[in-house]
Order: sequence, then C-alpha cells, then structure tokens
Amino acid sequence: MVNTEAAVVIDNSVPSTVPASVAAAAVAVAVELEANKTTELMLTNLKQQSILDFDKGDPTMYEAYWKSIGDDFKITISASKALSYFANPKSFCWFMLPKLEREIRNLHNYVGNAVVEGRHIVVGNGSSQLIQAALYALAEPLDPSSPISVVSAAPFYSCYPQIADYMRSGLFKWGGDAHAYVDHDDQPYIEMVTSPNNPDGELRGPVVNKTNGMLVHDLAYYWPQYTAITKPADHDIMLFTASKCTGHAGSRIGWAIVKDSHVAKLMVKFLEISTIGVSKEAQLRAISILEMISTNSCPTNFFKSPTSLLDTYAWMKARKGINLEEVMKEENIRVRGGRTFGFPSNYARLSILGRDNDFDQFLKRLPSIFKRLAHSKCCSSPAYEL
Ligand code: PMP
Repeated sequence: MVNTEAAVVIDNSVPSTVPASVAAAAVAVAVELEANKTTELMLTNLKQQSILDFDKGDPTMYEAYWKSIGDDFKITISASKALSYFANPKSFCWFMLPKLEREIRNLHNYVGNAVVEGRHIVVGNGSSQLIQAALYALAEPLDPSSPISVVSAAPFYSCYPQIADYMRSGLFKWGGDAHAYVDHDDQPYIEMVTSPNNPDGELRGPVVNKTNGMLVHDLAYYWPQYTAITKPADHDIMLFTASKCTGHAGSRIGWAIVKDSHVAKLMVKFLEISTIGVSKEAQLRAISILEMISTNSCPTNFFKSPTSLLDTYAWMKARKGINLEEVMKEENIRVRGGRTFGFPSNYARLSILGRDNDFDQFLKRLPSIFKRLAHSKCCSSPAYEL
C-alpha cells in the first residue's frame, strides 16, 4: 500500500547557491561555479538517461509472474467460436458468458473481499466503462432538471472528473472534492468512494454522508496484494477490475456487483447502447485466469507471489511552492501531478505498477532528484516526502 510507512523526510543540507553578502564576493563566485558544475553534470546525466514513465497505472509488474506460469493456461479460440453478440440471452446481462459470472463469484468467495450472494454481476469494458454505467443508472431514473454532482474526496482518482464531464451529460457532472461539497436544497449527489484509494492507498468510506447521496464503491484495489482483506465488502454498487486484480489491463474486463436489480439492468442498458456488450475473447481469457487463481491451480499462489510485496503508487509530497511534476520532468521522469487528483502541485503520484527494471532505474536517480529538489527555488521549509 502507499501510505506514510513509505515516507522519507529528508532535511535540506545542500548549501544555498546565493552568497550571504556582497562582501563575500569570492565565496559567491566559487559557489556559483560549483552550482554551474552541478547543473552541467545534471544535464550530462540527463542526456544519457532514458525517460522513465511512472505516470500511467499500467500494471506490467505482473508480467514476470505470468511469464513464470508459462503456456499452461493459454487459450485458443477457433474462428467459429463466439460469433454472436449474445452470450446468455436468458440473463439480464445477456452479453456475459455464464462461466465468467461463476468465476467472478468463485473468486470473491475464495478471497473473501466482497459479498456476492444474492447480488447481480455486470461485466464491462474495464471498470472505466462501469463507472459511467453506474452514474447513468443512478442519475437516469431521477430525470434531474440539472446534472447531478459527482464528488469524491481529494486526492481522488484522476479520471473521475474526465469520466463525469467529457460527454457534457444532462444527467451528471463533476462536482469536485467531496470534502468541499455543499449540499444545496437536499439535491441528490453521487459520491465515488475509492478504497484503497488511488493515489494515496487510504482505506476510505463516504465523507458527505447525507440521506440524498448515492454511493459507488470503486474497489479496484481491494485485493490481498494491496491491502489486508478484513471483511467482505457489502455496498450497493461495487466495482472491480481485472486490470488491478490480475494485471490484465489489456483485456479490458471489469465487473460490478450490484444489490438493486433495477440499477443493474440500467447499467446493462448503458453497455448495450455504448458498446453492445463486452468482447467474448476477453471474457474467455478472463475465465481461464480467474479460474486459475481462485482454484489455486497455478504453481505459485498468485496472491502470495513476490509482486504482492510492492506498493502500487507512491504519493509524493515536496515542499510548498514546488511543482513536483515539473521537477521530475527535468529528471526525465514522468509522474502525474497533484492537481489532477484535486491536490496542490507540490504533490505527485508515481505509479510503481511497472516493470522492476524501471523502478531500479528510478532508485538510481533518487540522489539526483533529491539534489534537484533541494536546489528548487521556493519557500524556506526544506523537506520532501516520498
Ligand atoms: N478505478 C481506479 C481507482 C483505478 O485506479 C483504475 C485504473 N487506474 C480504474 C478504476 C479503471 O480501471 P480499468 O478501466 O482498467 O478497469
């Protein structure tokens, strides 16, 4: 998990490049020359450095585990298979393969992270699509005269504002940080509750807590490799994704566990209209992978593999006034700046879901990053946290 355990606070012991007084001109020149040398050295190093991309939450860290599994669980799909739009015409979620539904239920029962008994399962093209489907399903029946606010406590997952606003829907709109939400005349609102949270790993509950609120629990990271599973989650709408569960982000498989059948049906309607369902090839692949991990039929237990030792994101904090994303860019490192999470720009998220080699490279660059941060001009409190 990303939390304060990973925090490093380092005092600034690097001397100022500005001399204390004009009388100390000689010292000033020496210091300046030294600073120029440092800058030159940094530039030379930079030229030799490749760009490290820690911006996206791309879960390639799981690649090593799946390579170790080899071809034992590969699937082959013949050209005559899975032609139809339909997978199960009798089910309300008619595009979901019945075996996928079973495997999703089995997996949650095995892990114990969500109640599935008596709940409806909706499969989607990643949980990104299911977030939209949930917003649609909650807002549509209210037929609102103006768009319903969608809020989430900052720092929030950076895609929520885009998802809520990009279609300029008449049903819902992004309403910002849930902590700052002002309830106007008991208007309905939707709160996205992300637990563990992206970017800071915090375990969360809703913060607005009004009777007219509707909740969507985004539990993308509620798996044993990211946090302790203390009890099965039991909320109205819970979203999960293969992207973060098994690392198969490319398959674009997510699923929702929904209490209310009417809400579940409206979510299916959203998927029907936007993409006429979900790829059968992706579902077949998900079936084989979920079955493997929930029956523990792989050589090493997936949830106990070394990947589970990693944190997912580092939520970094520099001293006030520093634009951390910009500073990291100068080090040829891409991170996602605090502003996209509703936080100040002295924060940034570093995604460490990538390959080990990239992370090793990053560790090698840490001294240079610290030096650059220490030289960054801003206010006087010189500390930074990782
Ligand atoms: N929710 C959270 C909290 C996430 O971090 C992500 C991916 N970064 C998603 C949803 C979307 O995941 P996907 O669409 O790949 O299922």
